[in-house]
Amino acid sequence: MTLLIDNIGELVTNDPSLGRGQLGTITRAAVVTDGGRVTWVGRAADAPAADERFDAAGGAVLPGFVDSHSHLVFAGDRAAEFAARMAGEPYTGGGIRTTVAATRAASDDTLRATATRLRAEALRQGTTTIEVKSGYGLTVPDETRSMKIAFEVTPETTFLGAHVVPTEYAGRPDDYVSLVCGPMLTAVEPYAKWVDVFCEQGAFDADQSRAVLEAGRERGLGLRVHANQLSAGPGVRLAVELGAASADHCTYLTDADVAALADSDTVATLLPGAEFSTRSPYPDARRLLDAGVTVALATDCNPGSSYTSSMPWCVAMAVREMGMTPAEAVWAATAGGARALRRDDVGVLRPGARADLVVLDAPSYLHLAYRPGVPLVRQVIHNGVLI
Ligand SMILES: [Zn+2]
Repeated sequence: MTLLIDNIGELVTNDPSLGRGQLGTITRAAVVTDGGRVTWVGRAADAPAADERFDAAGGAVLPGFVDSHSHLVFAGDRAAEFAARMAGEPYTGGGIRTTVAATRAASDDTLRATATRLRAEALRQGTTTIEVKSGYGLTVPDETRSMKIAFEVTPETTFLGAHVVPTEYAGRPDDYVSLVCGPMLTAVEPYAKWVDVFCEQGAFDADQSRAVLEAGRERGLGLRVHANQLSAGPGVRLAVELGAASADHCTYLTDADVAALADSDTVATLLPGAEFSTRSPYPDARRLLDAGVTVALATDCNPGSSYTSSMPWCVAMAVREMGMTPAEAVWAATAGGARALRRDDVGVLRPGARADLVVLDAPSYLHLAYRPGVPLVRQVIHNGVLI
């Protein structure tokens, strides 16, 4: 069945060969989908006939958001810890263990219900592709069930057994790394596409992070790194050296880090929700973009340091606080996220792409940053289906 989406005031294709500028915008546009794929994009006046029609009512249409970094498999919340931070306490990352304890104590059904609810919440806000990590189990059985549940929610699943060293391994981090690289990796492998590590003081050092990433790569997993969030550590350079798809956070970077990213296929994924929720300085997206680094935006949705599932909000924050133009931020939240997941079928609207579209109750993508916090997503189309 074919679907014509027409009366589009402004269409963002992210394909410069189809329209104007980096976003490849077309005014008075239409899109045709067939099943789960885009089959035609262009001026509405030239659109072919289709079985069904959706009237965009003059609103802007863009590719569905690609959220390339989230942690949806957990139990409990940490609202009190957030309140304490807002009252002046610093963020250290140690609160992750609070969520680990709650997650271990929760039933599969409880974990599944939370992950499913958050996935639906993100979809309503236009996120049609989402990456989901484990990392709050930190035992073989708890990481395995976390990965199974993540895999029920999305095919973009990431094993983050190396999130922190769990309490029972205090003082023996290398023993825990051996567990992650051996039995834990074997158990989660059927459900994992990616492997990730929190390379940071208080989490895993360069050698431990390298061991985890190389073990994952030997099993055929793609690489991602939580890098340079709290300090200018070795994470970014390790990510680039090992050919990781993405270095995530990138808040504290040396000039050498920026140069290494610019010279690589590793995307810098910026997560403004983490800085917002920890009242920390935002990463400097302008510096990265001016150096030629590919930048993605993602939510980092998790109960401790960034409990938002809203990509439109991330766009607004990136524009206001991180030096991005609205066009750069929209690109980073769609095509940039797709690059961070090494996908070329999402984050773009052209024939052959997946039929994932967001229809705004606004005439231009500019309104995503211009009208922050306003629910502008009027309709989501996922795999060619009106949600
Ligand atoms: Zn994260």
